[in-house]
Order: sequence, then structure tokens, then C-alpha cells
Amino acid sequence: MYNFQYHRPKNLEEASQILDVGDDPKLVAGGMTIIPTLKQRLAQPSDLIDLADINNLVGINLQYQSLEIGSMTRHCDVAKSEIVREIIPALSSLASHIGDSQVRHRGTIGGSLANNDPAADYPAGALGLGATIITDKREILADDFFVGLFETALEDNEIITAVRFPKPKRAAYTKFPNPASRYAIIGVMVAETNNQVRVAVTGAGDDGVFREEKMEAALSTNFTSDAIADISIDDETLLSDIHASSEYRAHLINVMAQRAVDKAT
Ligand SMILES: Cc1cc2nc3c(=O)[nH]c(=O)nc-3n(C[C@H](O)[C@H](O)[C@H](O)COP(=O)(O)OP(=O)(O)OC[C@H]3O[C@@H](n4cnc5c(N)ncnc54)[C@H](O)[C@@H]3O)c2cc1C
Repeated sequence: MYNFQYHRPKNLEEASQILDVGDDPKLVAGGMTIIPTLKQRLAQPSDLIDLADINNLVGINLQYQSLEIGSMTRHCDVAKSEIVREIIPALSSLASHIGDSQVRHRGTIGGSLANNDPAADYPAGALGLGATIITDKREILADDFFVGLFETALEDNEIITAVRFPKPKRAAYTKFPNPASRYAIIGVMVAETNNQVRVAVTGAGDDGVFREEKMEAALSTNFTSDAIADISIDDETLLSDIHASSEYRAHLINVMAQRAVDKAT
């Protein structure tokens, strides 16, 4: 690790002030990604701003048929929340299959979305469920939030405070996990929400999470797995690595999407 100044602000305003004046400050949520990055000397921030003491960033609230989840809410708390299970069981299931127990007890929804790993589960959850990412400065639709590999629409001095998920009519998430890390080789969120069918795919896109429009169109007229069984996915722009070839990923997208539709219905 390189040297840095460590800060533990007590509220959002204090965190935001440090973020505004530091040379190259970085936020810390659960540290699941940023600490290994620092240990490997892949980043050299001037300041680390730990959000752990800002209590109002934690919690899950039901507001007008939407769930608002604080950015520092850990995966294990989303997974075991009664209200999430009742309102969006697909989200509870997604959170319960992230990594292992240690990761779920440290990792946070805000950290996961800000990091936008191309194999992470929450980006597919947020995009598929039509979520809104709330920051200390504005609200950003999930459709506009994920802009590339590990890249989001967040400004350098912007802090995610919560994520709002509208209650879907029906939804399900399925993933084919990497057996070692549990990251998605392919993960698909299928949802009927706000009178729209949305299909979001993680683990495959060379630009990160994306919506599969052919499937959305087919499911909009016939919400059954048969309706998408014959849709072939173009593998040209899909990731290919030691874990899976692009052809295999294309095949898995269809299989996982069909399973998600069956689960949702
Ligand atoms: C072994 C292992 C297995 C994993 N398996 C999975 C898996 O199966 N599925 C999956 O989806 N994920 C997986 N993860 C990722 C994990 O779930 C965490 O969500 C992810 O590492 C981010 O961690 P964190 O929340 O602790 O954020 P941190 O590591 O603290 O921060 C990550 C990044 O987000 C920024 N950030 C954090 N909070 C905010 C905020 N509120 N506003 C703006 N920026 C912010 C930080 O500055 C940093 O750049 C795995 C991680 C590990 C180590």
C-alpha cells in the first residue's frame, strides 16, 4: 500500500467536504474491492473516506410501492430482509448468492454499483428492475448509470446514498456462477415492471451490464420461456476469457433467461 490520509466522517456533509478538497480521494464502503486494490498498489489515493459511521446510509424502507435501500446496506442484510423478500423476492435471492458469507457481510449495494464490475450481480439487478440510483447531488436512472467497464455516470465528488427499486409485477434472477468466486459467468434479471418487460445481463458484455432487447420484445407479447427459446444471442461483442468463451456465454444467456422467466412465472 502507498501512504494515505484516513478519514471517518460522522455525516454525509463532512464526507462530501473531504471529497471536495482532497487531491485524489476515494470512498470506502465495505472495502471488499478497494482494499485489495490498494494492497496490490493498483491505486494511490491521497485520502480514504470511510463511510462506516454514517448511519443514515444504512437501511431498507418501503415507500409508495418502492424499496429504498441505503448505499451502505450490506448484501447479507438485503438477503435476509423480510420486506425485500415480500416486495422483491428476486432481489433478496440475488443478494443471497453474492460471493461467500464473508463478502456478503462486508460488501455493500452502493460499493457494488459504484464499482460496476462486469460480472457483478447488482448492476443486473438495478438495470433489470428499472432502479434509480440516488446520490447526494441527484437521481440517476439505472439506464443512464452504467456507462462502461468499471465506469459509471458518477462524478468524482458524488456519493451514492441509496437505491430505489420499484415493486415489479414479477421478476426473477438466475446466474451461472464462477465456482471459485461466485461472480456471474452469466447472470440474468428478468422483470415485468412499470408496464415494461426488462431483461438485464451481467457477466457477458465487453462494456459491462446490458439489456437484451430482442428478448424484451418477445416477452412483452408472450411472457413464457418458449417465447425466447429460439432467440440466438450475437456473441461478437461478448467477453471471452479463461472462464468461458463468448459462444458459451451467448448460449448461457438464453438458458439463464429462460430459467428466470420460468422462475418469475
Ligand atoms: C472474493 C469475492 C467474491 C465476490 N463475489 C461476488 C459475487 O458473486 N457477485 C457480486 O456481485 N459481487 C461479488 N463480489 C464483490 C462484492 O460483493 C462487493 O460488492 C464489491 O467488492 C464492492 O465492495 P464494497 O461494497 O465493500 O465497496 P468498496 O470496496 O469499499 O468500494 C468499491 C468502489 O466503490 C466506491 N464506493 C463505495 N461506496 C460508494 C458510495 N456510497 N458512493 C460512491 N462510490 C462508492 C469506492 O470508492 C470504490 O471505488 C465479490 C468480492 C470478493 C472479494
